[in-house]
Amino acid sequence: MLSLHEFVERHPRLFVLSGAGISTESGIPCYRDREGQRTGRAPILLKDFLESDYARRRYWARSMIGWPVVAHAVPNAAHHAVRALAARSRVHRLVTQNVDGLHTRAGNPDVIELHGNIGRVRCMSCGARHHRADVQRLLEAANPDFVGHTAPAVPDGDALIEHLDFAAFDVPGCAHCGGMLKPDVVFFGESVPRELVHDAASALEGADAMLVVGSSLMVYSGFRFCEWAAKSGKPIAAINIGKTRADSLLALKVEAPCSEALNALIDRLDAAQRTAASPLPAPAP
Ligand SMILES: [Zn+2]
Repeated sequence: MLSLHEFVERHPRLFVLSGAGISTESGIPCYRDREGQRTGRAPILLKDFLESDYARRRYWARSMIGWPVVAHAVPNAAHHAVRALAARSRVHRLVTQNVDGLHTRAGNPDVIELHGNIGRVRCMSCGARHHRADVQRLLEAANPDFVGHTAPAVPDGDALIEHLDFAAFDVPGCAHCGGMLKPDVVFFGESVPRELVHDAASALEGADAMLVVGSSLMVYSGFRFCEWAAKSGKPIAAINIGKTRADSLLALKVEAPCSEALNALIDRLDAAQRTAASPLPAPAP
């Protein structure tokens, strides 16, 4: 069986798709267990957020309490290894399903964030973009009674809290127009923006192969790239502990922590590079 190093040597221009598994080592919990089953409570649906005042209060209350975990998370060895892979010209394009912004903070300037970025907030009326940190200040100022609660965090900067009286939570409006604020992330029941799908699909077209890093691919917005890769004859490798939805499509699967597998790959690439660069020994006299 092919090793990850051989896979990358054979297919140097990789379309890299990362998921929640790459951020667990940064303290951001994973949505799914090893079987790819969702754990914890169901995420908010776009429809509920838009239509229910109570759902919005509950969302922002939980988000205010859960946000510090995401805000304080820093890129881990796996994010840095993806950056190192890019520095070795092996990453044709980096696409992520994560909303934590950690690839960018690890120095990858041009990431396609399929599901948005939790560090931004968008006004549904005027379209203005706000920094999540600024909105956090408004949330905390308007809701001093809710400040200081702690709760287990979930990946979208949300928190598992049920016992608070969310009806009393005051949700601030847009600083420009007073309009409804929504985190700039793709909720369940919402589509990935068409231009992002288009950009990612054309990047896949120009790549030699696909490398999945830390995703069970259970969500279709990520899985479809595997379907497209398979259809166009591009091999797929995955680094993921546990089952993925694309297992039957994989040319190679590495069941190890992302940082471990990627750092081993970088070491092998560098060793091969050194061997290729070192001069042949001089012939014996
Ligand atoms: Zn506005």
